[in-house]
Amino acid sequence: MAKSSDLEELKGIGKEVVGKLNRLNIYNKDDLINYFPRRYEDFSVITSTSKLRPGQVTIRATIKQVKGRYVRRGMHITEAVASDETGSVRLVWFNQPYREGSLKLATEYYISGNFELSYQRLSIMNPSVELVSDFPVNTARILPIYRETKGMTSRQIRRFLRELMPLIIELPETLPDWLIKEQKLKSRSWAYQKTHSPKSMEELKLAQYRFGFEELFGLSLASLINKNEIDSEKTLSIEFDEKLAKKFVANLPFKLTDSQRKVIWKIYQDFQKSQPMNRLVEGDVGSGKTVVAIMASLMVINKGYQVAFMAPTEILAKQHAESIYDLLRPLKLESAVGLLVGGMTTAAKEKARKSIKNGKIKIIIGTQTLIQEGVDTHKLALVIIDEQHRFGVEQRRDLIAKAGYMPHVLSLTATPIPRSLALVLYGELDISIIDTKPLDRKPVITKLSSNNARPQIYREIDKLLSGGHQMFVVCPVISESINPNLRSSEEVYDDIKNHAFKDRRVGLLHGKLPAKKKNDILQEFIDHKLDILVSTTVIEVGIDAPGANIIIVESAEQFGLAQIHQLRGRVGRNDQQAYCYLMLSANSPPSRRLRMLETVNDGFKLAEIDLEIRGPGAIYGKLQHGQLDLRFAKLSDHELIAKARESAEKFINLEENLVKYKELSSHIANLTAVTSLN
Ligand code: ADP
Ligand code: MG
Repeated sequence: MAKSSDLEELKGIGKEVVGKLNRLNIYNKDDLINYFPRRYEDFSVITSTSKLRPGQVTIRATIKQVKGRYVRRGMHITEAVASDETGSVRLVWFNQPYREGSLKLATEYYISGNFELSYQRLSIMNPSVELVSDFPVNTARILPIYRETKGMTSRQIRRFLRELMPLIIELPETLPDWLIKEQKLKSRSWAYQKTHSPKSMEELKLAQYRFGFEELFGLSLASLINKNEIDSEKTLSIEFDEKLAKKFVANLPFKLTDSQRKVIWKIYQDFQKSQPMNRLVEGDVGSGKTVVAIMASLMVINKGYQVAFMAPTEILAKQHAESIYDLLRPLKLESAVGLLVGGMTTAAKEKARKSIKNGKIKIIIGTQTLIQEGVDTHKLALVIIDEQHRFGVEQRRDLIAKAGYMPHVLSLTATPIPRSLALVLYGELDISIIDTKPLDRKPVITKLSSNNARPQIYREIDKLLSGGHQMFVVCPVISESINPNLRSSEEVYDDIKNHAFKDRRVGLLHGKLPAKKKNDILQEFIDHKLDILVSTTVIEVGIDAPGANIIIVESAEQFGLAQIHQLRGRVGRNDQQAYCYLMLSANSPPSRRLRMLETVNDGFKLAEIDLEIRGPGAIYGKLQHGQLDLRFAKLSDHELIAKARESAEKFINLEENLVKYKELSSHIANLTAVTSLN
């Protein structure tokens, strides 16, 4: 049942029409005004009938004759002839018998439609027709096309919006005057008028620019406000102990890279302030982020404070716990390390919880269990979030809240976030980038292939497997899907185990298996009890399987470049040459996009390309970018992003009072919740 709403004040809208509008999520006038067109059709240029070319056309003509008839059962056709000074043209409508009675002869109309072949004759098909003497809504202009529903067409929506024009003209401005002037933006009211009813494509562009700017300005402002809030908090400052740092480094089995050293130094500087650190460390897979996190933890526990280290999977948490334990042992600090994951026995968990509460465990490593299991922390001073993009804002916030005050936060990610995007999404974060890799790593040799080459590739791979290497095979779906061309993990597993590599030990891993089973299979692979692991993208997360040197990505066209780059980062974690085979699905055309992976080995560059071609979803997955809801701005528009960011900074520096801007501030309140880590 449709609720009554102010929509009913509009002409021709009763309960029934309101119900239809509700199906489009339109519940009131405001929703209607904000119901933006999906696209536009340009009928604004009026052509003389003698110059018509196939395609969308508009003529200004009088109707000479009109006649309707039934051609077959249920099929009605109306034919008319329209003329101007230069000649005439045939008009055809299917199943619109009312046309015959509604068209007036010898009266001038605008007629817009597609000029195309029908029964071997060029005609304007199913055109919209409006009297020239009326203000035209559906002809002779750029036509906005809206998302429609049964019984609610763009034509009707246009009419409602036209009726709302007086309201739209009165819409108040939401942005500060100085900003409008400085950025040469069109007013909000103008932008609404022109998106719903542009006179030219130039007008439309200016309107969309204004909205795009507003979106990015809002996001930037939200993240700056978050940043200021964090900066105004007080937290435990952590002194730097140079001797301890040196001792730790001296005991490492490798030499730190310059990037690692720089990031660690930054973190130590952050620690000495009484404001909480909020730093994101971005580094390609295998760039060595974990040791950075460990060195950060070292200073914290040295002061008797606690660290919570959250990883997205149990295996990863265990791997971290082991490497932290190993690296702290030379300093006799290993007893400070404690694990808390779902797979532990109730008794073990209880014991861990106790030691966390009384502060005996100083580095708590775990998964989401850290949030769920009612853990009481003890002087928690540092929260580390590994593979941060794997967690939702809520989860990160809940962990941070365990401290009872704002702790230092260190987030790690292998997702390369283009600088411009990071400014908008994570403007409140300080970002450090690890851009050098530990020395002994060779780039993964990457080859894009079609299905035909499979036998040849399998022969190459078989030789490598005989040399003791292990292989990942990644599939886009678990089981057979609607698209028969996609290779599913079950199908590939069956083929590899029983045919292609039947002498090898093969495992299957995917997200639908119980957690325990997943862990067991991964562990078998890590321990080299399996030669081949067929899986879905569950392996994307930073698993360390040092023996794996080959990866096949099936139906590679389904994946983003940055995602494949992360996947191939799973191999070549030793000093041997590693290989990545990208297999296209049957029927998939050769891909220039994927070819990039053969030559480009820079995750940031690949992410930029992804962002440009496929939008932020390719980098972020649904979780974060879905909430962003950008309708006009493109996150690859560096220039616009820079301007929006500068303007937001100026807004803050001018000490503008947000309360003055009601719409803006409620919008920002929503955004801070999305972008903030806190
Ligand atoms: P990621 O950045 O993907 O989390 P890790 O921290 O897991 O990478 O490091 C990958 C591997 O590289 C680990 O085995 C780690 O011990 C090793 N490693 C880290 N830093 C260096 C370095 N400077 N030189 C050599 N090996 C390193
Ligand atoms: Mg890692």
